[in-house]
Amino acid sequence: MANILVTGGAGYIGSHTRYFLEQRRHRVIVVDSLERGHRELVPDGILRQLDLRETEKLSRLLAEEQIEAVIHFAAYIAVGESTQVPEIYFVNNVGGSLSLFSAMLSAGVKRLVFSSTAAAYGIPAKVPITEDEPYAPINPYGESKVMTEKILEWLDRYREFRSIRLRYFNASGAEPDAGLGELHDPETHLIPLILRAILTDKPVTLFGDDYPTPDGTCIRDYIHVSDLAEAHIFAVEHLLEGGASDVFNAGTGSGHSVKEVVDAVERVTGKRVPRTIGPRREGDPPALVANSDKLQRSLGWKPTRADLDRIVSDAWKFATRVKH
Ligand code: UDP
Repeated sequence: MANILVTGGAGYIGSHTRYFLEQRRHRVIVVDSLERGHRELVPDGILRQLDLRETEKLSRLLAEEQIEAVIHFAAYIAVGESTQVPEIYFVNNVGGSLSLFSAMLSAGVKRLVFSSTAAAYGIPAKVPITEDEPYAPINPYGESKVMTEKILEWLDRYREFRSIRLRYFNASGAEPDAGLGELHDPETHLIPLILRAILTDKPVTLFGDDYPTPDGTCIRDYIHVSDLAEAHIFAVEHLLEGGASDVFNAGTGSGHSVKEVVDAVERVTGKRVPRTIGPRREGDPPALVANSDKLQRSLGWKPTRADLDRIVSDAWKFATRVKH
C-alpha cells in the first residue's frame, strides 16, 4: 500500500485509475482544477482543487500527504482544439507538467507514471506500432506529449527521476457499476458519439469512407478504460519496487474500423445507429494499432476486457444513465 497522487483524477481515465488503485488498497489523493474534470467522479474527501502550475502548493501537498508516487493525467486532450489554439496546449500540458515535476523534485518524490499517447507517432511507418517508432507528432496535442516525454527522459538521466510513459491508444468503455464513464465536453470520441446518436436520434458523422483500409473507414485500437487503468497500477507498482524508467504502448494489438464499431453498437444495443458519411477529419491516420507485447512482457499486464462488444456494452450502460 502506498500514498499516490493522481492528477486529473476527475477525468475519464484518471477516475478509473483512482478506482482501481483504491481496490488495491492504495491511498489516493486527487488533484484536479475541475476546469474540464467532473467533481462527481471523485469520492468525497480526497479531492484537492488546484492548477498544476501552482508549484508551491503542489510541493507542500506532496510533503503533507507523504506522497510516494504520482500518476499524471491532467492535460487537455482534444486534437482539433490543439490545431486552433496550440498555445494553450503548450501552456497547460507542458507548463503544467514541468511545474508538477519541479514540485516533485523539491518534495523529493521521484516516481511518476505519465499519460502519453499514440499521437506521439503521427502517421506511423508500420502497424502494429512498436515503441521504437520515432516521435513524429502531426498536431500540437501530440507534440505537447512528446515534449513532456523528452523532459522525463532528461530527468531520468540527471535527476534519478523514474517514470513510466504509457502511450495510450483509444481508451473506451466504462465501469458503470462504479458510476464511472466518459463525460467529455464537448465529446469528440467515436463510441460515446455513436451512443448519443441513438439516444438523441441525431446522426453521427463518420469521418471518411475512402481510406486505404478493407471497408474504407479508419482502424483504431480500442482499449477498455479499465484495462488501461490496470496498466497504470502495474506501472506505478513497478516504480514503487524500484523499477527503471521505460515507455510502453497501451493497446490491445487488434484494430477495428469505424464501421465495425457501428456494427458492434447495433449488435449490443439492438438499435439502429443514425449516421451520415462526412469528409475525412484533418490529421486522422488510416490505421493506428498498438503492438503492446512490451507492456505484457515487462510488467505482466494483460487486457482482459478487449472484446469490442464488451467495451460497447459497458459504454452503453453508462451512457443510458447520463442525461443527453
Ligand atoms: N470518428 C468518426 N466520427 C466521429 C468521431 C470519430 O468517424 O464523430 C472516427 C475518427 O475519424 C477516428 C475514429 O473514429 O477514425 C476514432 O476517433 P476518436 O476521436 O474517438 O479517437 P482518436 O483516434 O482521434 O484518438
